[in-house]
Amino acid sequence: MAKGLPKRSEDYSRWYTELVLRAELADYAPVKGCMVIRPYGYAIWERIQSTLDRMFKQTGHVNAYFPLFIPESFMTKEAEHVEGFAPQCAVVTHGGGAKLEEPLYVRPTSETIIWSMYGKWIQSYRDLPLLINQWANIVRWEMRTRLFLRTTEFLWQEGHTAHATETEALEETVKMLEVYRTFAEEYMAVPVIKGVKSESEKFAGAVRTYCIEAMMQDGKALQAGTSHYLGQNFAKAFNVQYQTKEGKLEYVYATSWGVSTRLVGALVMAHSDDNGLVLPPRLAPIHVVIVPIFKGEEERALVLGKARALADSFGPETIVRLDDRDNVSAGWKFNEWELKGVPVRIEIGPRDLAKGQAVMVRRDLGEKRAVPLESLKEVVLRELQDMQGALLHKALDFRQASTKRLDDYESFKKQMEEPIPGFVDAGWCGSAECEAKLQEETKATIRCLPLAGQPEKCSCIRCGNPSERRVIMAKSY
Ligand SMILES: [Zn+2]
Repeated sequence: MAKGLPKRSEDYSRWYTELVLRAELADYAPVKGCMVIRPYGYAIWERIQSTLDRMFKQTGHVNAYFPLFIPESFMTKEAEHVEGFAPQCAVVTHGGGAKLEEPLYVRPTSETIIWSMYGKWIQSYRDLPLLINQWANIVRWEMRTRLFLRTTEFLWQEGHTAHATETEALEETVKMLEVYRTFAEEYMAVPVIKGVKSESEKFAGAVRTYCIEAMMQDGKALQAGTSHYLGQNFAKAFNVQYQTKEGKLEYVYATSWGVSTRLVGALVMAHSDDNGLVLPPRLAPIHVVIVPIFKGEEERALVLGKARALADSFGPETIVRLDDRDNVSAGWKFNEWELKGVPVRIEIGPRDLAKGQAVMVRRDLGEKRAVPLESLKEVVLRELQDMQGALLHKALDFRQASTKRLDDYESFKKQMEEPIPGFVDAGWCGSAECEAKLQEETKATIRCLPLAGQPEKCSCIRCGNPSERRVIMAKSY
Protein backbone atom coordinates (compact mmCIF):
# COMPACT_ATOMS: atom_id res chain seq x y z
CA MET A 1 0.00 0.00 0.00
CA ALA A 2 1.22 3.50 -0.87
CA LYS A 3 2.43 4.95 2.43
CA GLY A 4 2.06 8.33 3.97
CA LEU A 5 -0.98 10.53 3.95
CA PRO A 6 -0.15 14.22 4.03
CA LYS A 7 0.02 15.35 7.67
CA ARG A 8 -2.93 17.25 9.08
CA SER A 9 -0.65 19.89 10.52
CA GLU A 10 0.97 20.51 7.13
CA ASP A 11 -1.98 20.47 4.76
CA TYR A 12 -5.30 19.67 6.37
CA SER A 13 -7.26 20.13 3.19
CA ARG A 14 -5.09 17.76 1.14
CA TRP A 15 -4.99 15.29 4.05
CA TYR A 16 -8.80 15.17 3.99
CA THR A 17 -9.12 14.66 0.24
CA GLU A 18 -6.37 12.04 0.10
CA LEU A 19 -7.88 10.18 3.02
CA VAL A 20 -11.35 10.08 1.47
CA LEU A 21 -9.87 8.75 -1.78
CA ARG A 22 -7.40 6.25 -0.26
CA ALA A 23 -9.82 4.84 2.31
CA GLU A 24 -12.15 4.28 -0.65
CA LEU A 25 -15.01 6.33 0.74
CA ALA A 26 -15.64 8.21 -2.50
CA ASP A 27 -14.17 9.02 -5.89
CA TYR A 28 -14.53 11.83 -8.42
CA ALA A 29 -17.26 11.31 -10.99
CA PRO A 30 -16.96 12.04 -14.73
CA VAL A 31 -19.26 15.06 -14.24
CA LYS A 32 -17.48 17.93 -12.50
CA GLY A 33 -18.73 18.54 -8.97
CA CYS A 34 -20.31 15.10 -8.61
CA MET A 35 -18.93 12.19 -6.62
CA VAL A 36 -19.23 8.43 -6.57
CA ILE A 37 -19.84 7.11 -3.07
CA ARG A 38 -17.88 3.86 -2.90
CA PRO A 39 -19.09 0.81 -0.91
CA TYR A 40 -17.12 1.62 2.27
CA GLY A 41 -18.35 5.23 2.28
CA TYR A 42 -21.86 4.12 1.46
CA ALA A 43 -21.76 1.64 4.36
CA ILE A 44 -21.11 4.57 6.73
CA TRP A 45 -23.99 6.51 5.15
CA GLU A 46 -26.25 3.46 5.54
CA ARG A 47 -25.48 3.35 9.26
CA ILE A 48 -26.18 7.08 9.58
CA GLN A 49 -29.38 6.63 7.61
CA SER A 50 -30.72 3.62 9.50
CA THR A 51 -30.04 5.24 12.88
CA LEU A 52 -31.70 8.54 11.96
CA ASP A 53 -34.59 6.74 10.28
CA ARG A 54 -35.29 4.90 13.52
CA MET A 55 -35.11 8.17 15.46
CA PHE A 56 -37.54 9.89 13.05
CA LYS A 57 -40.01 7.04 13.34
CA GLN A 58 -39.74 7.07 17.12
CA THR A 59 -40.79 10.73 17.02
CA GLY A 60 -43.88 9.97 14.93
CA HIS A 61 -42.68 10.55 11.36
CA VAL A 62 -43.31 8.41 8.26
CA ASN A 63 -41.41 8.19 4.98
CA ALA A 64 -42.72 9.07 1.52
CA TYR A 65 -41.20 9.88 -1.85
CA PHE A 66 -41.85 12.91 -4.05
CA PRO A 67 -40.66 13.44 -7.64
CA LEU A 68 -37.23 14.72 -8.66
CA PHE A 69 -38.72 17.31 -11.07
CA ILE A 70 -40.42 20.49 -9.93
CA PRO A 71 -42.42 22.65 -12.39
CA GLU A 72 -40.87 26.11 -12.74
CA SER A 73 -44.14 27.77 -11.74
CA PHE A 74 -43.94 26.04 -8.31
CA MET A 75 -40.46 27.37 -7.66
CA THR A 76 -41.53 30.96 -8.30
CA LYS A 77 -44.50 30.88 -5.92
CA GLU A 78 -42.51 31.68 -2.78
CA ALA A 79 -40.51 34.83 -3.58
CA GLU A 80 -37.60 34.43 -1.14
CA HIS A 81 -37.34 30.71 -1.84
CA VAL A 82 -36.86 31.14 -5.59
CA GLU A 83 -34.50 34.05 -5.11
CA GLY A 84 -32.34 31.93 -2.82
CA PHE A 85 -32.33 28.74 -4.85
CA ALA A 86 -32.77 29.63 -8.56
CA PRO A 87 -29.10 30.53 -9.15
CA GLN A 88 -28.06 27.08 -7.87
CA CYS A 89 -30.60 25.06 -9.84
CA ALA A 90 -30.27 22.68 -12.76
CA VAL A 91 -33.21 23.11 -15.12
CA VAL A 92 -34.49 20.58 -17.64
CA THR A 93 -35.74 22.23 -20.82
CA HIS A 94 -36.01 19.22 -23.13
CA GLY A 95 -37.53 15.78 -22.72
CA GLY A 96 -38.21 12.97 -25.17
CA GLY A 97 -36.51 14.93 -27.93
CA ALA A 98 -38.80 17.97 -27.69
CA LYS A 99 -38.72 21.30 -25.89
CA LEU A 100 -40.87 21.20 -22.76
CA GLU A 101 -43.80 23.59 -22.43
CA GLU A 102 -42.73 24.38 -18.90
CA PRO A 103 -39.12 23.94 -17.72
CA LEU A 104 -38.62 21.49 -14.87
CA TYR A 105 -36.27 22.21 -11.96
CA VAL A 106 -34.22 19.34 -10.60
CA ARG A 107 -35.11 19.61 -6.90
CA PRO A 108 -32.67 21.68 -4.83
CA THR A 109 -35.01 20.94 -1.86
CA SER A 110 -38.65 19.85 -1.95
CA GLU A 111 -40.79 22.37 -0.06
CA THR A 112 -42.65 23.50 -3.19
CA ILE A 113 -43.57 20.13 -4.63
CA ILE A 114 -44.49 18.78 -1.20
CA TRP A 115 -46.66 21.77 -0.30
CA SER A 116 -48.46 21.51 -3.66
CA MET A 117 -49.46 17.99 -2.56
CA TYR A 118 -50.25 19.03 1.02
CA GLY A 119 -52.81 21.38 -0.55
CA LYS A 120 -54.66 18.30 -1.81
CA TRP A 121 -54.30 16.28 1.38
CA ILE A 122 -55.05 18.83 4.09
CA GLN A 123 -58.60 20.08 4.51
CA SER A 124 -59.45 19.82 8.16
CA TYR A 125 -57.80 20.00 11.58
CA ARG A 126 -58.24 16.21 11.58
CA ASP A 127 -55.61 15.96 8.82
CA LEU A 128 -53.00 17.59 11.07
CA PRO A 129 -50.27 17.25 12.03
CA LEU A 130 -48.78 15.73 8.90
CA LEU A 131 -45.28 14.40 9.68
CA ILE A 132 -43.47 13.22 6.55
CA ASN A 133 -39.81 12.56 5.84
CA GLN A 134 -38.17 11.81 2.50
CA TRP A 135 -34.79 10.18 1.78
CA ALA A 136 -33.62 11.50 -1.58
CA ASN A 137 -30.90 13.01 -3.74
CA ILE A 138 -30.88 16.71 -4.55
CA VAL A 139 -28.93 18.95 -6.91
CA ARG A 140 -27.44 22.36 -6.15
CA TRP A 141 -25.01 23.56 -8.81
CA GLU A 142 -21.71 24.23 -7.05
CA MET A 143 -18.70 25.99 -8.48
CA ARG A 144 -16.22 24.91 -5.83
CA THR A 145 -16.73 21.36 -4.67
CA ARG A 146 -15.15 18.97 -2.13
CA LEU A 147 -15.91 15.30 -1.65
CA PHE A 148 -18.85 14.85 0.78
CA LEU A 149 -18.66 18.46 2.04
CA ARG A 150 -19.91 20.27 -1.03
CA THR A 151 -21.00 18.42 -4.15
CA THR A 152 -23.47 19.28 -6.89
CA GLU A 153 -25.58 16.21 -6.21
CA PHE A 154 -25.87 14.79 -2.72
CA LEU A 155 -27.99 12.43 -0.65
CA TRP A 156 -30.03 13.68 2.26
CA GLN A 157 -33.24 13.43 4.17
CA GLU A 158 -35.76 16.22 4.33
CA GLY A 159 -38.57 16.28 6.86
CA HIS A 160 -41.64 18.36 5.94
CA THR A 161 -44.31 18.78 8.56
CA ALA A 162 -47.63 20.61 8.66
CA HIS A 163 -49.27 21.85 11.87
CA ALA A 164 -52.41 23.60 13.05
CA THR A 165 -50.67 26.13 15.26
CA GLU A 166 -47.49 28.15 15.42
CA THR A 167 -46.68 26.72 18.86
CA GLU A 168 -46.88 23.16 17.58
CA ALA A 169 -44.72 23.92 14.54
CA LEU A 170 -42.11 25.66 16.68
CA GLU A 171 -42.07 22.69 19.06
CA GLU A 172 -41.47 20.38 16.11
CA THR A 173 -38.62 22.56 14.79
CA VAL A 174 -36.83 22.46 18.14
CA LYS A 175 -37.60 18.77 18.71
CA MET A 176 -35.93 17.77 15.43
CA LEU A 177 -32.94 19.97 16.21
CA GLU A 178 -32.59 17.98 19.42
CA VAL A 179 -32.83 14.70 17.46
CA TYR A 180 -29.91 15.94 15.34
CA ARG A 181 -27.91 16.95 18.41
CA THR A 182 -28.46 13.55 20.01
CA PHE A 183 -27.40 11.80 16.83
CA ALA A 184 -24.28 13.96 16.37
CA GLU A 185 -23.08 13.51 19.94
CA GLU A 186 -24.16 9.96 20.77
CA TYR A 187 -23.47 8.31 17.42
CA MET A 188 -20.97 10.49 15.55
CA ALA A 189 -19.20 11.41 18.81
CA VAL A 190 -19.13 14.99 17.52
CA PRO A 191 -20.15 17.67 20.04
CA VAL A 192 -22.34 20.40 18.57
CA ILE A 193 -23.66 23.82 19.52
CA LYS A 194 -27.38 24.32 19.01
CA GLY A 195 -28.31 27.76 17.83
CA VAL A 196 -30.28 30.07 15.55
CA LYS A 197 -28.92 31.43 12.26
CA SER A 198 -28.74 35.16 11.63
CA GLU A 199 -31.27 36.61 9.14
CA SER A 200 -28.76 36.58 6.30
CA GLU A 201 -27.76 32.94 6.92
CA LYS A 202 -31.25 31.49 7.28
CA PHE A 203 -32.90 29.15 4.76
CA ALA A 204 -34.55 30.91 1.81
CA GLY A 205 -38.25 30.96 2.68
CA ALA A 206 -37.90 30.28 6.43
CA VAL A 207 -39.01 32.48 9.29
CA ARG A 208 -36.22 31.11 11.46
CA THR A 209 -33.44 28.57 10.91
CA TYR A 210 -32.02 26.51 13.77
CA CYS A 211 -28.75 24.66 13.32
CA ILE A 212 -26.14 22.48 14.96
CA GLU A 213 -22.54 23.62 14.48
CA ALA A 214 -19.56 21.31 14.93
CA MET A 215 -15.84 22.10 15.10
CA MET A 216 -13.44 20.24 12.84
CA GLN A 217 -9.80 19.50 13.79
CA ASP A 218 -8.56 22.52 11.82
CA GLY A 219 -10.67 24.80 14.00
CA LYS A 220 -13.26 25.51 11.32
CA ALA A 221 -16.99 25.20 11.84
CA LEU A 222 -19.19 22.78 9.96
CA GLN A 223 -22.96 23.15 9.90
CA ALA A 224 -24.07 19.59 10.55
CA GLY A 225 -27.85 19.93 10.34
CA THR A 226 -30.63 22.50 10.09
CA SER A 227 -34.24 22.70 11.22
CA HIS A 228 -36.43 25.48 9.79
CA TYR A 229 -39.57 27.09 11.12
CA LEU A 230 -41.35 28.12 7.90
CA GLY A 231 -44.38 29.84 9.47
CA GLN A 232 -47.23 30.10 6.96
CA ASN A 233 -44.98 31.09 4.03
CA PHE A 234 -45.41 27.91 2.01
CA ALA A 235 -49.04 27.40 3.06
CA LYS A 236 -49.82 30.86 1.68
CA ALA A 237 -47.81 30.33 -1.51
CA PHE A 238 -49.67 27.06 -2.20
CA ASN A 239 -52.96 28.11 -0.58
CA VAL A 240 -53.00 25.32 2.00
CA GLN A 241 -55.78 26.08 4.48
CA TYR A 242 -57.56 23.87 6.96
CA GLN A 243 -60.89 24.10 8.69
CA THR A 244 -60.50 24.56 12.46
CA LYS A 245 -62.69 22.84 15.06
CA GLU A 246 -64.74 26.05 15.13
CA GLY A 247 -65.26 25.91 11.36
CA LYS A 248 -62.91 28.77 10.47
CA LEU A 249 -60.34 28.59 7.65
CA GLU A 250 -56.69 29.02 8.65
CA TYR A 251 -53.35 28.67 6.89
CA VAL A 252 -51.22 25.72 7.97
CA TYR A 253 -47.87 26.15 9.78
CA ALA A 254 -44.79 24.37 8.43
CA THR A 255 -41.35 23.08 9.34
CA SER A 256 -38.59 21.43 7.34
CA TRP A 257 -35.33 19.86 8.50
CA GLY A 258 -32.44 18.02 6.94
CA VAL A 259 -29.03 16.41 7.15
CA SER A 260 -26.97 15.07 4.26
CA THR A 261 -23.99 12.96 3.19
CA ARG A 262 -21.98 15.96 4.41
CA LEU A 263 -22.11 14.19 7.79
CA VAL A 264 -19.71 11.56 6.40
CA GLY A 265 -17.23 14.37 5.74
CA ALA A 266 -17.78 15.74 9.24
CA LEU A 267 -17.15 12.31 10.72
CA VAL A 268 -13.86 11.99 8.83
CA MET A 269 -12.66 15.49 9.73
CA ALA A 270 -13.63 15.34 13.39
CA HIS A 271 -11.75 12.22 14.49
CA SER A 272 -9.31 10.86 11.92
CA ASP A 273 -5.52 11.11 12.23
CA ASP A 274 -2.37 11.08 10.09
CA ASN A 275 -2.59 7.28 9.72
CA GLY A 276 -6.14 7.22 8.42
CA LEU A 277 -9.76 7.14 9.46
CA VAL A 278 -10.83 6.90 13.09
CA LEU A 279 -14.48 5.85 13.11
CA PRO A 280 -16.74 5.87 16.16
CA PRO A 281 -17.84 2.27 16.80
CA ARG A 282 -21.55 3.11 16.60
CA LEU A 283 -21.18 4.11 12.93
CA ALA A 284 -18.21 2.01 11.81
CA PRO A 285 -19.12 -0.51 9.05
CA ILE A 286 -16.70 -3.03 10.60
CA HIS A 287 -16.13 -3.09 14.39
CA VAL A 288 -13.41 -5.67 14.75
CA VAL A 289 -10.88 -7.06 12.30
CA ILE A 290 -9.00 -10.25 13.11
CA VAL A 291 -5.64 -10.68 11.41
CA PRO A 292 -4.26 -14.23 11.67
CA ILE A 293 -0.47 -14.59 11.50
CA PHE A 294 1.08 -17.86 10.36
CA LYS A 295 3.78 -19.54 8.29
CA GLY A 296 3.14 -22.83 6.51
CA GLU A 297 0.13 -25.12 6.35
CA GLU A 298 0.28 -26.51 9.87
CA GLU A 299 0.27 -23.09 11.56
CA ARG A 300 -2.31 -21.86 9.11
CA ALA A 301 -4.84 -24.54 10.05
CA LEU A 302 -4.28 -23.99 13.76
CA VAL A 303 -4.43 -20.20 13.72
CA LEU A 304 -7.30 -19.87 11.25
CA GLY A 305 -9.36 -22.39 13.20
CA LYS A 306 -8.96 -20.40 16.39
CA ALA A 307 -9.52 -17.06 14.60
CA ARG A 308 -12.77 -18.32 13.04
CA ALA A 309 -14.05 -19.58 16.36
CA LEU A 310 -13.27 -16.20 17.87
CA ALA A 311 -15.05 -14.32 15.04
CA ASP A 312 -18.11 -16.55 15.42
CA SER A 313 -18.28 -15.96 19.17
CA PHE A 314 -19.54 -12.37 18.68
CA GLY A 315 -23.26 -11.68 18.39
CA PRO A 316 -24.92 -10.03 15.35
CA GLU A 317 -24.50 -6.53 16.88
CA THR A 318 -20.75 -6.70 16.46
CA ILE A 319 -19.50 -6.77 12.89
CA VAL A 320 -16.32 -8.84 12.77
CA ARG A 321 -14.13 -9.31 9.71
CA LEU A 322 -11.65 -12.17 9.58
CA ASP A 323 -8.95 -11.07 7.15
CA ASP A 324 -7.73 -14.47 5.91
CA ARG A 325 -6.30 -13.23 2.61
CA ASP A 326 -2.99 -14.93 1.90
CA ASN A 327 -1.88 -12.70 -0.97
CA VAL A 328 -0.85 -9.80 1.29
CA SER A 329 1.36 -9.64 4.39
CA ALA A 330 0.11 -9.09 7.94
CA GLY A 331 1.87 -5.70 8.01
CA TRP A 332 0.06 -4.65 4.85
CA LYS A 333 -3.24 -5.66 6.45
CA PHE A 334 -2.48 -3.65 9.60
CA ASN A 335 -1.91 -0.53 7.52
CA GLU A 336 -5.03 -1.06 5.48
CA TRP A 337 -7.36 -1.52 8.46
CA GLU A 338 -5.75 1.41 10.20
CA LEU A 339 -6.39 3.55 7.12
CA LYS A 340 -9.99 2.34 7.11
CA GLY A 341 -10.49 3.22 10.76
CA VAL A 342 -11.70 -0.15 12.07
CA PRO A 343 -12.06 0.48 15.84
CA VAL A 344 -10.46 -2.73 17.13
CA ARG A 345 -7.81 -4.96 15.54
CA ILE A 346 -6.94 -8.39 16.89
CA GLU A 347 -3.67 -10.10 15.89
CA ILE A 348 -3.45 -13.79 16.52
CA GLY A 349 -0.46 -16.05 15.82
CA PRO A 350 1.01 -19.38 17.02
CA ARG A 351 3.10 -17.76 19.77
CA ASP A 352 0.01 -15.96 21.13
CA LEU A 353 -1.99 -19.17 21.00
CA ALA A 354 0.69 -21.02 22.95
CA LYS A 355 0.28 -18.38 25.68
CA GLY A 356 -3.52 -18.53 25.46
CA GLN A 357 -3.78 -14.90 24.36
CA ALA A 358 -4.21 -12.53 21.41
CA VAL A 359 -2.96 -9.01 20.77
CA MET A 360 -5.54 -6.21 20.67
CA VAL A 361 -5.08 -2.69 19.28
CA ARG A 362 -7.67 0.06 19.65
CA ARG A 363 -7.58 2.38 16.63
CA ASP A 364 -7.69 5.67 18.57
CA LEU A 365 -4.96 4.63 21.06
CA GLY A 366 -2.70 2.56 18.80
CA GLU A 367 -1.10 0.56 21.64
CA LYS A 368 -0.73 -3.20 21.48
CA ARG A 369 -2.13 -5.07 24.43
CA ALA A 370 -2.11 -8.81 25.17
CA VAL A 371 -5.51 -10.16 26.24
CA PRO A 372 -6.28 -13.71 27.45
CA LEU A 373 -8.43 -15.53 24.88
CA GLU A 374 -11.11 -16.46 27.40
CA SER A 375 -11.89 -12.83 28.20
CA LEU A 376 -11.18 -11.39 24.75
CA LYS A 377 -14.78 -10.97 23.68
CA GLU A 378 -15.77 -9.11 26.86
CA VAL A 379 -12.70 -6.89 26.65
CA VAL A 380 -13.37 -6.03 23.00
CA LEU A 381 -17.00 -5.13 23.69
CA ARG A 382 -15.97 -2.91 26.58
CA GLU A 383 -13.26 -1.24 24.51
CA LEU A 384 -15.75 -0.48 21.73
CA GLN A 385 -17.98 1.25 24.24
CA ASP A 386 -15.08 3.12 25.84
CA MET A 387 -13.81 4.27 22.47
CA GLN A 388 -17.19 5.75 21.57
CA GLY A 389 -17.11 7.85 24.74
CA ALA A 390 -13.41 8.69 24.44
CA LEU A 391 -13.84 10.14 20.94
CA LEU A 392 -16.64 12.44 22.11
CA HIS A 393 -14.59 13.62 25.09
CA LYS A 394 -11.53 14.24 22.98
CA ALA A 395 -13.54 16.28 20.47
CA LEU A 396 -15.20 18.21 23.28
CA ASP A 397 -11.86 18.99 24.95
CA PHE A 398 -10.51 20.17 21.62
CA ARG A 399 -13.50 22.44 21.05
CA GLN A 400 -13.23 23.91 24.52
CA ALA A 401 -9.52 24.54 24.11
CA SER A 402 -10.15 26.13 20.70
CA THR A 403 -12.97 28.48 21.74
CA LYS A 404 -12.01 32.00 22.79
CA ARG A 405 -14.06 34.70 24.37
CA LEU A 406 -12.91 37.93 22.74
CA ASP A 407 -14.00 41.56 22.96
CA ASP A 408 -11.69 43.51 20.68
CA TYR A 409 -11.58 43.38 16.93
CA GLU A 410 -7.80 43.34 16.54
CA SER A 411 -7.45 40.16 18.63
CA PHE A 412 -10.32 38.68 16.70
CA LYS A 413 -8.69 39.36 13.33
CA LYS A 414 -5.41 37.91 14.60
CA GLN A 415 -7.22 34.83 15.93
CA MET A 416 -8.80 34.18 12.52
CA GLU A 417 -5.32 34.04 11.00
CA GLU A 418 -4.06 31.40 13.43
CA PRO A 419 -3.48 27.87 12.00
CA ILE A 420 -6.40 26.73 14.16
CA PRO A 421 -8.75 29.74 14.26
CA GLY A 422 -11.44 27.98 16.29
CA PHE A 423 -14.68 29.46 17.60
CA VAL A 424 -14.89 32.98 18.96
CA ASP A 425 -17.57 33.91 21.42
CA ALA A 426 -18.21 37.63 20.88
CA GLY A 427 -20.80 40.38 20.79
CA TRP A 428 -22.67 41.34 17.59
CA CYS A 429 -24.92 44.36 17.17
CA GLY A 430 -27.40 42.45 15.01
CA SER A 431 -26.92 44.51 11.85
CA ALA A 432 -26.61 42.66 8.54
CA GLU A 433 -24.20 45.29 7.26
CA CYS A 434 -21.83 44.73 10.17
CA GLU A 435 -22.10 40.98 9.64
CA ALA A 436 -21.19 41.32 5.95
CA LYS A 437 -18.22 43.59 6.73
CA LEU A 438 -16.99 41.20 9.38
CA GLN A 439 -16.99 38.39 6.84
CA GLU A 440 -15.25 40.53 4.24
CA GLU A 441 -12.54 41.59 6.68
CA THR A 442 -11.89 38.30 8.48
CA LYS A 443 -13.46 35.48 6.34
CA ALA A 444 -15.35 34.47 9.49
CA THR A 445 -19.13 34.25 9.66
CA ILE A 446 -21.65 34.32 12.46
CA ARG A 447 -22.27 30.61 12.89
CA CYS A 448 -25.18 30.89 15.27
CA LEU A 449 -26.82 32.61 18.18
CA PRO A 450 -26.46 29.79 20.73
CA LEU A 451 -29.61 28.57 22.47
CA ALA A 452 -27.85 27.64 25.72
CA GLY A 453 -27.33 30.11 28.53
CA GLN A 454 -28.77 33.54 29.20
CA PRO A 455 -28.26 36.33 26.61
CA GLU A 456 -25.54 38.61 27.90
CA LYS A 457 -25.45 42.31 27.01
CA CYS A 458 -22.07 43.47 25.63
CA SER A 459 -20.62 45.44 22.72
CA CYS A 460 -20.39 44.41 19.06
CA ILE A 461 -16.86 43.20 18.47
CA ARG A 462 -16.67 45.00 15.14
CA CYS A 463 -18.52 48.31 15.51
CA GLY A 464 -18.74 48.68 19.29
CA ASN A 465 -22.49 49.32 19.27
CA PRO A 466 -24.56 47.71 22.01
CA SER A 467 -25.10 43.96 21.57
CA GLU A 468 -27.99 42.06 23.16
CA ARG A 469 -26.10 38.81 23.26
CA ARG A 470 -22.95 36.92 22.43
CA VAL A 471 -22.74 34.78 19.28
CA ILE A 472 -20.41 32.14 17.84
CA MET A 473 -18.13 33.33 15.03
CA ALA A 474 -15.79 31.11 13.01
CA LYS A 475 -14.41 30.30 9.60
CA SER A 476 -16.45 27.50 8.15
CA TYR A 477 -16.91 24.79 5.54
ZN1 LIG B 1 -21.78 45.79 14.78
